[in-house]
Amino acid sequence: MPAQLHLPTVLVLYKTALLAGALSTLHVRHRAVRPRGLALLATAFLLLAFGSALAGMGEYEAVPYWLWTHLSLLMGTAGYALYWAGMRGLSGRRRIRAVWVAAVPIAWLVLGLATQFPLENLPRAAAFHLTAALALVASVWEVLRDHRREPLPSRWPLAALLCLSAAIYATRLFYIVNDAATADGFALAFYIQILCHFGIALMIATLSKERAEARLEQAAQTDPLTGLGNRRWFVSRLPADLPPGSALALLDLDLFKQINDRFGHAAGDRVLVEFARNAAGQLRDYDLLARFGGEEFVLYLPTVAEKEATAVAERLRASTQALQIREGGTAITVSVSLGLAWIDRAGTPLDDWLRAADAALYEAKSQGRNRVVRAAPPAQRSHPASAGR
Ligand code: GH3
Ligand code: MG
Ligand code: MG
Repeated sequence: MPAQLHLPTVLVLYKTALLAGALSTLHVRHRAVRPRGLALLATAFLLLAFGSALAGMGEYEAVPYWLWTHLSLLMGTAGYALYWAGMRGLSGRRRIRAVWVAAVPIAWLVLGLATQFPLENLPRAAAFHLTAALALVASVWEVLRDHRREPLPSRWPLAALLCLSAAIYATRLFYIVNDAATADGFALAFYIQILCHFGIALMIATLSKERAEARLEQAAQTDPLTGLGNRRWFVSRLPADLPPGSALALLDLDLFKQINDRFGHAAGDRVLVEFARNAAGQLRDYDLLARFGGEEFVLYLPTVAEKEATAVAERLRASTQALQIREGGTAITVSVSLGLAWIDRAGTPLDDWLRAADAALYEAKSQGRNRVVRAAPPAQRSHPASAGR
């Protein structure tokens, strides 16, 4: 198969793939809300394409020998240093300082000017391949290290393609060092690199798209004022059938309209934020607290004893009353009422438990507010399956 690859054609396609990668990445950057690393990656693609074109022109003696050898090595190594920095940005890391990125090509340039090693094909190719392989391995690390923090599926194929690309460079480096490189091997290696460049450009676009979708999804499930999940988030996180030994509570701030009327809407907002921050701080990592709407919140405590659920609710009530929020020198009095349903059996739909908690909340309000009222368990629904027993 390698013998059928026409090297000059492959080399033209190689530059085309890099240019296509640059254009595609620039397009993605243009469309992205918060582009990260994409300008660096597009520049890296362009530098690699120009470096390769320069080397090609040099082979045809269109450029002075000393110029194209030094310059193509500079462009190639700068290209892969930027590539690594770009992949780091794309992955979501902070921008790396420019001196670190520039250090790699500049070190090669200085070494090259001092020793003139780039004037010889093998050392020049070895230096480029070594830099490329290391930058690609570093890129794999950058792309995968964030997969837990931001699990985007495209990280894996992107890392696999970067690995393949690094492996090709490392293999070629081995052949170059052992002086065993052949034109056929050269063509095959470039051919696989072409596929990698196309694949990587596609994965860069896919990752950006997945990130945008994940952000939209998160925004659709988050309350922008308090940062808590909203009703959609809450319902999506709750098990379809609430297991016995868990608790559901509805929380409603007392006389909140008066706070708004007296202190203004902005102060009301601050109360909501403070209330949410305080309540969230009292809970375990796996408890679910959401803003249901307005000044109403909902809480789900998985695996909790009946007494403990009451104690948690009582603690939330007391700590809300103790909140110190001031507006224009005056303390704002805040309190909350809670309707608490302790789930004592399976098979009763969520809506029934919510209704029971709501009835208890209503009771808490009519008893004078600032209190926790336990909900009466909803009436058991008769199931057709159990009716005949
Ligand atoms: P109760 O003790 O019976 O619950 O009385 P309340 O005043 O808290 O209840 P009501 O339902 O009468 O008023 C709730 C108020 O909450 C009315 C609404 O303007 C206000 N509100 C809803 N959402 C927000 C918000 O995002 N920010 C602010 N500042 N106020 C809000
Ligand atoms: Mg209220
Ligand atoms: Mg209300």
